[in-house]
Amino acid sequence: MYVKMNLKIITILKQLVDHLEYYNLMSPFPVYDTEYIIDIKTRIKDMENSKRDYDELPVAACKYCNSLHIENDEADNDICMRCGSVNDIEIYNNIHDYLEYIEKE
Ligand SMILES: [Zn+2]
Repeated sequence: MYVKMNLKIITILKQLVDHLEYYNLMSPFPVYDTEYIIDIKTRIKDMENSKRDYDELPVAACKYCNSLHIENDEADNDICMRCGSVNDIEIYNNIHDYLEYIEKE
């Protein structure tokens, strides 16, 4: 039987894009860089076409708000784009572990 891989991480990334686009739509000027949103969409496409199982790769999430929306700055700091915390990330073995954790919260 064919099992669709990467389903969870893709679902979460799609929710992130929806969220970012919603806020851009609601504000008079784009809050989030439109190039960044295109970037995420490209990543989703790559994952959908990939044979690699991203669902099994480690994920980084914010310790405080559990957001997966973490970006690196030039000094290699991990910045949470939701709450602004710096270098306070938690690494999970994979997306399943992460979802298990947030469901318990
Ligand atoms: Zn955060």
